[in-house]
Amino acid sequence: MSERIVVTSPKGGVGKTTVALHLGLALAERGMRTLIVDLDPQGGIGLSLAKRDGEWRGLVDVLAGEAQCAEVVVRTNEPRLAILPRGRLDPIEVPSFEDAVRTRGALDALLRPIEDAFDRVILDTPSGLGGITRAALGAADWALVVFKAEPLAMRSIQQVLRVIEHVREGERPELSLLGIVPTMVELSKEHSQSSMVALWTELEGVLDAAIPRSDALARASQLGVPVSYLGGRLPPEARRFAQLADEIEGVIHASRRGDGIETREQRALV
Ligand code: ADP
Ligand code: MG
Repeated sequence: MSERIVVTSPKGGVGKTTVALHLGLALAERGMRTLIVDLDPQGGIGLSLAKRDGEWRGLVDVLAGEAQCAEVVVRTNEPRLAILPRGRLDPIEVPSFEDAVRTRGALDALLRPIEDAFDRVILDTPSGLGGITRAALGAADWALVVFKAEPLAMRSIQQVLRVIEHVREGERPELSLLGIVPTMVELSKEHSQSSMVALWTELEGVLDAAIPRSDALARASQLGVPVSYLGGRLPPEARRFAQLADEIEGVIHASRRGDGIETREQRALV
């Protein structure tokens, strides 16, 4: 049985798709059979990967009953990484795509037949806390919240945490917070640093593997490749995603072993 991980944030342009793609690749590189599912009507993953996105069939076709999931999954040059693209979507059809995704049980029914072939399924969502994000959370085991280190980000994080809690108490008791991953961090800039301090001091679940603001990441997405696939020297930020994957796997394994949160008694050092 695979673990389903939703990558989410209330705001757009914060790095969700970038995290979903690079985390998926890092998990695959450490041996996990990984599927990235593009739930964004704007086609985040396809858009960032290929000009060919327009030619890929995907979720749209599966939801319309015109294809099986297994037929539209795109294999990548990383043997353990596959992508379930959004598919061709006329902009005027976006509302019906949203309706189809958020139909109760639809996502679950769609993923189940292919899931045995994967250890990790990453769901990339559109920005905001609308129907698709809600449906993804309602079908997931884990929520990975992306935090862009900038003023006012705390407020939107509180909103998404509240929705995750609500879904867990309602339709999806299996849902847990996997962690909050800071992105576009620039500790040399006052505004970025102060938002990180607020995050570290006010919230639990902040992951250590913060992703810095990086020209290489922006360049890679322009070229439609993960950052570690750019030519030349491997940029240091590529390793952050390996660290993120390790940290996330640690949380998942601790939870599945039933360790839960470590509690300790006070001790004396001397
Ligand atoms: P979202 O999915 O939240 O809308 P994206 O992942 O598509 O956000 O990122 C939005 C833009 O920011 C893209 O152009 C991407 O290349 C760029 N970007 C994402 N993460 C970083 C980063 N850590 N440093 C610099 N640019 C980034
Ligand atoms: Mg996106």
